[in-house]
Amino acid sequence: MLGYFPKPYPGELLYSVLARFCRHVASGSSKGAMRDLFGHATVSSTVDLPSHLQALSDRVGEARGFAPDRIIQLMTLFPYYTAFEPESVRNWVRRSMLGAGERLHVRTGLAAFRISRPRALLFCPECLLDMKGLYGEPYWRRDHQLPSVLLCPEHGVPLRQSDLAFHSTGRHAFMPASDYVCRNDSEPVMNVDSDALVHLQRLAISSADLLEAPPDTRDFPELTEVYRSRMARVGLMRSPEKVDQQKFAAEFRSYFGSALDHLPHVLNDQGFAGGWLAAIVRNHRKATHPLYHLLLRIFLDDRAEVPSPFGTGPWPCRNPLADHCGFAVIERLKQHRNRGRVVGVYSCTCGYTYIRAVGPDGVLGPPRYQKFGPLLAPELRRVVGAGCSLRQASRDLGLDPKTLMREAASLRLPVPWTLRPSGQPRCPDPPERPNGSSAPRRETKHLPRTDWPALDKDLSQRIKAQAEVIRAETPPLRVSVAELERRLGLRNWIVKRGRLLPLTMHQLEQTLEDRSSYRERRTRWIIRSLAESGTMPARWQVMRQAGLTSAEFVLIDRLLSEALTENSIGERPPARGKDATTAACSNKCNKYIKTKQLYSN
Ligand SMILES: [Zn+2]
Ligand SMILES: [Zn+2]
Repeated sequence: MLGYFPKPYPGELLYSVLARFCRHVASGSSKGAMRDLFGHATVSSTVDLPSHLQALSDRVGEARGFAPDRIIQLMTLFPYYTAFEPESVRNWVRRSMLGAGERLHVRTGLAAFRISRPRALLFCPECLLDMKGLYGEPYWRRDHQLPSVLLCPEHGVPLRQSDLAFHSTGRHAFMPASDYVCRNDSEPVMNVDSDALVHLQRLAISSADLLEAPPDTRDFPELTEVYRSRMARVGLMRSPEKVDQQKFAAEFRSYFGSALDHLPHVLNDQGFAGGWLAAIVRNHRKATHPLYHLLLRIFLDDRAEVPSPFGTGPWPCRNPLADHCGFAVIERLKQHRNRGRVVGVYSCTCGYTYIRAVGPDGVLGPPRYQKFGPLLAPELRRVVGAGCSLRQASRDLGLDPKTLMREAASLRLPVPWTLRPSGQPRCPDPPERPNGSSAPRRETKHLPRTDWPALDKDLSQRIKAQAEVIRAETPPLRVSVAELERRLGLRNWIVKRGRLLPLTMHQLEQTLEDRSSYRERRTRWIIRSLAESGTMPARWQVMRQAGLTSAEFVLIDRLLSEALTENSIGERPPARGKDATTAACSNKCNKYIKTKQLYSN
């Protein structure tokens, strides 16, 4: 245990405390100091993420406030560099810093970042004056060494570059802040540019805040989701999955203006260096420098939110089995598009999920159940055990009976309900027969058998009667199967059952009228109608009235001559006999006859 060790000042870097120790004890050789502090002469004097901290803590003593975790959290840049890393990485870095710290900068991704660590320790001239006034000596502040801090978070003035370039001090030496290395005429890290100052000052304060109060750890997919949802809220998403990158880049650039030019590796000739801006709102797969996270967060914080059609959360849970039912406990809402509607998916931590949709008219639809979650199965078992009816259970669970039955089936829970209107339990199955014989056959309800011969006879008579009615009608109507079936209320029925109705089929053969017979009968009726004026009509008059063509002149002439010679213009009785009958059969009838012949062969 060291006999003396200096007390750290507010915001002081561990490197600075160790440097003051070396100066105070007038340590002659840096190797000797390293041995005193860490037990090894070859430990490197690291500014940001020092290692061998367990050994240091053992020598300085936890009683002096140098517990290992306290050193890491309060005196190193660990909280800044791991602010957006998953818990596993934070733990690994912490363990490495306690030990030898091998590959520390590689593992944190620091080595891969193009944003280099400051080449020299930085200081604020005004802070230096304050330190000397308050404590009698200057020291190196933690927040002044962050790559995203160009202005003093406290005084808002540009930081100055000390003469303490890391490469010149040696890897195993600690150099304290002093007027000698922190010269009055040293170069500021940036020239004052009033437009940029506001943004850079805010960035400096946010960076310092990361040291004091780092955010909760999130793994990369969670981080992606956080940024996506925030981008959606400020209207920078084209769809739930797609960022409007063009608009985002343009508005980001216009927001920060010239401030971006001062920051390390933010812009290059092509735009955003390495495409970091587009990448940070895509799927996170690896570490991104805290500077980029901070810039994005500041931009998003300052952007007005576009009001969501679903309102601002949190939203109520609708799970009737949860004790928080009706309370606004749903923090996150997912959205997607479906057939022109925006659908909001409300998922509660209890597992209950419902959706609401916003149509093109912007009106928010009613909640619709989607998923119950793990509370359903035990409750279902309980209500079944208690003998509740389906209706009662549905009401208690806030589900319609059909959905409840579906959920029970998907959970493979046997339930005694059916979807019959009463929802009553099914009749219990009959007890098993003791001798193992098969159960008696269930009685089946028989419809009365059809008396086909009687039906056939009746139908044939009705067809004959209906055909006469049709023939008597004016203007004439064709006697067809379709017309007869329609009038008998047996549409599409008779011919299909022709094999069972021989009398009916015979009657149809006798009765049906083919197109040419019908045309002839109709033309005869037209001639008679036209002749009622007392003059025999001309051929063209008949043709036009009957909708015939010149191809039917022979027919028209024959009928006109019949009307003249017989001097009796009236409807002739329909043709009878075998030939006429065959011609009169409809296509359907012909088909039936052919089928009948096939069967009889
Ligand atoms: Zn300052
Ligand atoms: Zn819930």
